Amino acid sequence: MSTTVHDRQSRDHTRTEAAPQPMLAGEKSPAELFLVKLFAIVPALALAAAVPLAWGWGLGWTDVGLAVFFYTLTCLGVTIGFHRYFTHGAFTATRGLRIALAVTGSMALQGPIIGWVADHRRHHAYADREGDPHSPWLFGTSAGALAKGFWHAHMGWMFQREQTNAVRFAPDLLADPDIQRVNRWFPALTVVSLLAPAVAGGLITWSWWGALTAFFWAGLVRVAVLHHVTWSVNSICHMIGDRPFTARDKSANFWPLALLSMGESWHNSHHADPTCARHGVQRGQIDISARLIRIFEKLGWATKVRWPRPERLARKLNTTGSAS
Ligand SMILES: [Zn+2]
Ligand SMILES: [Zn+2]
Repeated sequence: MSTTVHDRQSRDHTRTEAAPQPMLAGEKSPAELFLVKLFAIVPALALAAAVPLAWGWGLGWTDVGLAVFFYTLTCLGVTIGFHRYFTHGAFTATRGLRIALAVTGSMALQGPIIGWVADHRRHHAYADREGDPHSPWLFGTSAGALAKGFWHAHMGWMFQREQTNAVRFAPDLLADPDIQRVNRWFPALTVVSLLAPAVAGGLITWSWWGALTAFFWAGLVRVAVLHHVTWSVNSICHMIGDRPFTARDKSANFWPLALLSMGESWHNSHHADPTCARHGVQRGQIDISARLIRIFEKLGWATKVRWPRPERLARKLNTTGSAS
């Protein structure tokens, strides 16, 4: 099956709501649920408890460089790969780029690719309504309900047992043997993602101590920071910020996260035009992911890129001028 067909399908499935397939399929096993909790919480604990401790005695420039490198690589794997390309079909990619994006996105440790894409397509199909896997608005609008909603949208939803039905939401990925393979490799890619910084740090400093500090900063802390930035798009960017475009949901543009999220926090613009390759569509809105897609396009690796169209944007502008 060609990439073009994949992408057309992925666009269709973002919108399809009346498909005969059920929305959910089975439940996570207790072992799977344990692993989700382990990988969501251990890096976060490392971040919270040890950053103040380690600062000053266990952080060198090698650690900083490796952390920035692995953060950038895996963040772009998620934003350009899992999100804009695999979920929304914002462009078509050569087979090499397609696999590279699947691998680097998997190394962000946000779950295997097929489940990630299925969950996110379901999020767009039901955004902020019953059926959305991670809306902060499911419990009401009182202060208590919103606190509960924030926790649910940020992390809590992952600890629920229900699983999105990939047969309904990601049939294009299920039909691709290469993607099936990357999906199965997720445990191995998790190990690679955590150990590669340690190996690099050890070789650069030629010491076990250098390997250990690189594992901590460019492995655990890097994973935790990217987790919380990605999860903030689901929580904060459906609660707080500007809404220059009309969307059917509560998505908002939250500028303070634009750099760290590599353009994903322009989330109101994204929900207004989900298949668009650029999320920061207004003047001055930095979108690093879109810049790299442009470079891929110039290299001939990305084609049929869906760049913003001014007339379409103008139609979607929120003329009531409401913010947050
Ligand atoms: Zn959203
Ligand atoms: Zn999306």
